[in-house]
Amino acid sequence: MKLCEGTTLNLLHLLTDQRHWKLRYSAAGVHLFDRSTGLNILLDEILVPASLYSRAPRQISIALTNRCDLACPHCYAPKSRDELPFDVITKWLAELDTHGTLGVGFGGGEPTLYPEFVRLCKHVVEKTHLAVSFTTHGHHIDSELAEQLRGFIHFVRVSVDGVGATYESIRRRPFTALLACLERVRTISRFGINVVINERTLPELDEIARVAADVGACELLLLPQVSVRGVPGIDAHTLQDLRRWVESYKGPLRLCINEASADGFPICDPLVEERGLLAYAHIDAKGVLKPCSYHETGVPIGEGGVLQAIQRLASEQRERNI
Ligand code: SF4
Repeated sequence: MKLCEGTTLNLLHLLTDQRHWKLRYSAAGVHLFDRSTGLNILLDEILVPASLYSRAPRQISIALTNRCDLACPHCYAPKSRDELPFDVITKWLAELDTHGTLGVGFGGGEPTLYPEFVRLCKHVVEKTHLAVSFTTHGHHIDSELAEQLRGFIHFVRVSVDGVGATYESIRRRPFTALLACLERVRTISRFGINVVINERTLPELDEIARVAADVGACELLLLPQVSVRGVPGIDAHTLQDLRRWVESYKGPLRLCINEASADGFPICDPLVEERGLLAYAHIDAKGVLKPCSYHETGVPIGEGGVLQAIQRLASEQRERNI
């Protein structure tokens, strides 16, 4: 029996309601997402009417606070005391959840310094269908915080640039303390390692990947250094060496790279129809919506909510022909 598309979508709704799948509709088809396992399924045989396309970005990142107790030389986060109010964040996330966003990534600054961090993660897991992740330097994750977060986090990203003395010269924290943190992080949820790639950290990638696999990470996110606020970006030679490293990597970790740096890398993107603001957007600690966290300008989120700000940003981008 051949079902019409409307019937197929209704059936999917019935099935997914019972199995905790979240649905997202786009020109690519119907995207099913299970936040507890991270499993994504794309039903690209289903032609979704344009009127049903999800209007929110697939993924949103939010800088909860600009506070951080480290001073990494490559840091792009403004050193200010800006912090987003709890009620405002939860209102935005409820709106994004309704309109098809699949996950939120909390960052900063250092998100574990946000005064209501645990309460916020619990709230999002209990009141929305969003997957919750956060990016951290890891040094505040003691046993108590790990215990409080367990069950309310779906993925953790820990920033590790270099090993041993290189790490310590960048982060000014003992590398052994980081390794102890990673042992606690693995008790919270699946986790990955983020590496800012520059001429200092690239030579240590083999060792970083080995340490990451040994402590139980499942992903290595490569972040070629971006030029921002006087910090130089990655040079062409190092970028070329990074491409060679990626092509020769045979280890167990899933390799990822940010969209802006993906050119020339062997990437797999099944959702090419969902690029730009449909794929990802960032909200900074002042409540300004931006295409990504490196952008210095964006659109303040007003009373009209996040989706209205996204439309304004999209129309500004069209005008500027971005
Ligand atoms: S830990 Fe992150 S937010 Fe803090 S200074 Fe380093 S790069 Fe910036």
